[in-house]
Amino acid sequence: MTVVVLALDALDAGLIDHFDLDAYRLASGGEIETFANTQDVPYTPEVWATVATGLEPAEHGITGGGTSEWENPALDLASTVTGHLDESTRGTLGKLVRSRTGTRERIGETDRESMFDADDAVVHNWPGVHDGQPLQRAWDLMNAVAEGMSRSEFERELFGLCAQQFGWAREMLEHPVSIAGVHVHTLDAAGHAYADDEEALRRAYERVGEYVQEIVAALGEDDELLVVSDHGMRTEFYPPDAGEKPASHSWRAYASSTADTYPKSVYDVRRWVEERAAASETGASDDEGIDMPTERLRELGYLD
Ligand SMILES: [Zn+2]
Repeated sequence: MTVVVLALDALDAGLIDHFDLDAYRLASGGEIETFANTQDVPYTPEVWATVATGLEPAEHGITGGGTSEWENPALDLASTVTGHLDESTRGTLGKLVRSRTGTRERIGETDRESMFDADDAVVHNWPGVHDGQPLQRAWDLMNAVAEGMSRSEFERELFGLCAQQFGWAREMLEHPVSIAGVHVHTLDAAGHAYADDEEALRRAYERVGEYVQEIVAALGEDDELLVVSDHGMRTEFYPPDAGEKPASHSWRAYASSTADTYPKSVYDVRRWVEERAAASETGASDDEGIDMPTERLRELGYLD
């Protein structure tokens, strides 16, 4: 039995209703509580570290982004207003971002225990916990859009990354895994880029929804799927956002699960997931080793 956790960054409870997308509405779900710490609105690395650990930022230690780069106001500005700059500002900002990121540090990772430390649990990439590179790639893409990257190239790169992440989650269902978690930044990047383009953002939501449904279709009888977000995204076209700054994070975080309950807060996700994962064994504990032909590998130079 596997609990798959899809961390869909910026999946907005209001936009799911606005676009009327059943793909995200599993057996139970709705808007959930999230928090702001170093910014006025929820901030991605801080919230995802909390989702995985169940801890406050002061306890898990991921505040801001955990590195100097993440606290760089130029990058923050770029990610907030991508797609809403005139051409000359885009060029200037792009150069600024590029020059500041020449010597890039890794995104911070908490040393506190997370739900992915459970027996037979696996994680692919998850900001603040394990491998921040895919998130950095998504941020690079947003910066590239600010510098003039074409729509087709942006979407090709963004959905290529998305496909790898969903493909990994799908594969984990074939293995004795208790919890499988992956963070997908597609809807955040699309939301920033298309906060003023309703049809383009609708298409992005529909495409990611198709991926969610592929996972649902692959679930075994005892498997569960949890879809959860850290915040939503304000847009120019969603009526309740009138008067707000488009392409900024909204408070409309969302969760939905194939079970009859779902976590009501980002603080409650870890407990919810671990309770379900503990309900059955994966059978991986009496696992066998593999008799590897080490001489052949040495001949090939794969081993010292
Ligand atoms: Zn986020």
